[in-house]
Amino acid sequence: MLEDKNQQRTSLASLGEFGLIEHLTKNIKTKQPSTAKGIGDDAAVLDFKGKKTVVSTDMLVEGVHFDLSYMPLKHLGYKAVVVNISDICAMNAIPTQITISIAVSNRFPLEALEELYEGMRLAAQVYDVDIIGGDTTSSQKGMIISITAIGQADEEELTYRNGAGNTDLLVVTGDVGAAYMGLQVLEREREVFKVNPQNQPDLDAYTYLIERQLKPEARKDIKEILKGLEIKPTAMIDVSDGLSSEILHLCKQSGVGCNLYEEKIPVDPQLISSCEEFNIDITTVAINGGEDYELLFTVKIEDYDKLKHNPNFTVIGHMTQESEGMHLVTRANTKIPLKARGWNAMQEEE
Ligand code: ADP
Ligand code: MG
Repeated sequence: MLEDKNQQRTSLASLGEFGLIEHLTKNIKTKQPSTAKGIGDDAAVLDFKGKKTVVSTDMLVEGVHFDLSYMPLKHLGYKAVVVNISDICAMNAIPTQITISIAVSNRFPLEALEELYEGMRLAAQVYDVDIIGGDTTSSQKGMIISITAIGQADEEELTYRNGAGNTDLLVVTGDVGAAYMGLQVLEREREVFKVNPQNQPDLDAYTYLIERQLKPEARKDIKEILKGLEIKPTAMIDVSDGLSSEILHLCKQSGVGCNLYEEKIPVDPQLISSCEEFNIDITTVAINGGEDYELLFTVKIEDYDKLKHNPNFTVIGHMTQESEGMHLVTRANTKIPLKARGWNAMQEEE
């Protein structure tokens, strides 16, 4: 995981807005050929030379999307960039640039923003995207982060949510549910800490879960892997709100139904043991827990042989005619209607 440090406290007021922008952006350089002009003018200039450009934006609000009591700022910066890059990857495009806008209250010292930016710069480096601009302003309370991600793709590579056809296979990358359980573990530790600050938590059994929550990764690798296998997905989406909610999006937009097989859903061993410990149903977490940032896509049934042995992919179901509806087929072979109970819905239920 990322290192954290917070020693000095330099007040933001002592720098002023321009001083702060200058401080946060002075070491930012650009590398992408499509970046013609980065930070420093009224607007950035991009040149994609005939490629299609994709743009996606997300806003994160303190207290709504993140909680700084267990989210170190460097991780927050990293994650804020990653979740936007994930949206570009979900179009089967390559992320190339981001803009970063922040609003912060004067409760944060400069050092806090430096940590946030360290995480953002690290993510930009790992995913090879240029930071080409943004905006900096103050807020009355808390922190708001808005990131816009830009990417490129050939027109025929772009993959939308609405292309899934009847009989297409439903495929997910990696495993699901771990980020949600990571959050459960972190929230429990926070409660324990409130009661007994001396308590040193032993989190060894949950390292994967916590990493998935605090330092998720976007599947930038999948576009190349699919290309190498000569597979063009028919529809694609990233798993941010939970598998079941994303499947419903694909189905509704494509005008198809779906059977999702419970026994096929890929989960990590740590998810299984922690669900047992917390007495939560594994499948409920796997299909409703969000923030996995894996990719969910459909392929033509003829492509099955090309991907069946690839460790990145699990076929978890298939699409049907729209009239058949959207179902989870359980291990006991009963069909339950799939519901869109995203991550937020789960929170409210508790
Ligand atoms: P303007 O007055 O036109 O909004 P600013 O003074 O806000 O310009 O920004 C100056 C430059 O710094 C611009 O290139 C802008 O994109 C960039 N910038 C401002 N804030 C940020 C930030 N938080 N992160 C990255 N770049 C930023
Ligand atoms: Mg500005």
